[in-house]
Amino acid sequence: MALIECKECKNELSEKADKCVKCGCPSPKAEDRRMGKIAGLVCFLVGVLLLFVACLSRL
Ligand SMILES: [Zn+2]
Repeated sequence: MALIECKECKNELSEKADKCVKCGCPSPKAEDRRMGKIAGLVCFLVGVLLLFVACLSRL
């Protein structure tokens, strides 16, 4: 299990932890996961939008 450093207080925390136990700051890994989810959602929405535009332009 790897340890990562809290960007706020430099405390070492597990990379599986969602936030720092010392200062409560969200862990960088948790933020990465959240950003990954948001990026996936944005890609999905853009895909749906493009499909929608493609259908409309065919009419
Ligand atoms: Zn911290």
